Amino acid sequence: MLAFSAMISPDSAARIATLADECVKCGLCLPHCPTYALDATETESPRGRIALAAAGTSGVVPAGFDLRLHLDHCLACMACERACPVPVHYGALLVETRAALPPAKGRPRFLLDLLSRPRWLRAMSWLARLSLARLWASTAARALLPKESALRAAIALLPVLPRESKVHSSDSRAAATRSTVALFGGCVQGVFERDAQNVAELLLRAAGFDVTRMDNICCGALAAHIGDVDRAQHLAAQVRNAFARSGAEALITTTPGCLGTLRAALPGTRVEEALGFIAAQADELKFKPLNARVALHLPCTQVNVARNGEAVRKLLARISGLKVDVLPTQAQCCGAAGSHMLEFPERAAAYREKVLATLPRPSPDILLTSNIGCRLHLAAGLRIRGDGLQIEHPLTLLARQLIA
Ligand code: SF4
Ligand code: SF4
Repeated sequence: MLAFSAMISPDSAARIATLADECVKCGLCLPHCPTYALDATETESPRGRIALAAAGTSGVVPAGFDLRLHLDHCLACMACERACPVPVHYGALLVETRAALPPAKGRPRFLLDLLSRPRWLRAMSWLARLSLARLWASTAARALLPKESALRAAIALLPVLPRESKVHSSDSRAAATRSTVALFGGCVQGVFERDAQNVAELLLRAAGFDVTRMDNICCGALAAHIGDVDRAQHLAAQVRNAFARSGAEALITTTPGCLGTLRAALPGTRVEEALGFIAAQADELKFKPLNARVALHLPCTQVNVARNGEAVRKLLARISGLKVDVLPTQAQCCGAAGSHMLEFPERAAAYREKVLATLPRPSPDILLTSNIGCRLHLAAGLRIRGDGLQIEHPLTLLARQLIA
């Protein structure tokens, strides 16, 4: 095997070296990093990964050292970037270094590729439904496949997959008093999060926006993650074209996990996460009171990329009578992290246990979380525990309480 430095283009090596140079090695990011909290080793820390990427470009990392593994253990939660005083552009460094490395061997590329293709995903979901797989497949997978199997992790999600619903788009252009916004379709969210997209549209229209629905196109994050740069760029171009056709002034995603990639694909365009956008733009929305207790899980990308966790909490506080317990977020990724829950199921389960352990007692009525990956991963964990706690997108609760 060739050393990383022998394979990388000079341009890419220079960009990685420049980004890595930003780090002053202070270590202030370490207490915020979930992988460091799990492993307590420098190679599983932001500072260590930056040093590894820099060492790789200069040829110090010997051939055979699994640089990619340490980078791929990263959950891309961006807690380090948020905590960094410089700030180091860790996200850009991670994307650039992953793209420069050859694809990892022994990873479930077919499965990850499938996730980014909504048509295939819908066909597989339809087949799973037809064969009643949610009733028997996860038991069979547990008996036949090893714990670290990505296929076993994917099959474990079948019983918690939401039923695929239709797009409910109400054409009320005449009623719109504000600008047009485009609702991002996406891949996994485009198939399994249509209910959240439908209620986002309802809330946005109630706030006076005209809403146009974009096709189900993946943002490209999964392709970038597995080092398929061409496909990631192709998908980014498709997103740009679809947004240009929409005629909208802003792009809204109901899943904060897509936000960073969408912003990178559409520089100069307003790209927002739905809850934060509604919290900032929809003061006039009124909600019915609700006497209930909810636990609010804030996905890493909500806190560190959208950076609007507080706005989400304030939006929910507009439902009078609702008691909201916010789960702690420091060094706490639930482990879903895009494809991480399939690529490293045992590590992902360890992160999940830490988050589930923070659920308040007595149990809340509902667990809220806005990322489809977090929702599926946490729901699978609750199912393993035999805990029937209901889990849903905060938008679903808000729409239920909306006074029309
Ligand atoms: S990434 Fe930022 S916080 Fe972490 S060690 Fe480097 S300079 Fe310090
Ligand atoms: S992105 Fe998250 S998991 Fe990755 S190094 Fe930074 S804090 Fe750690």
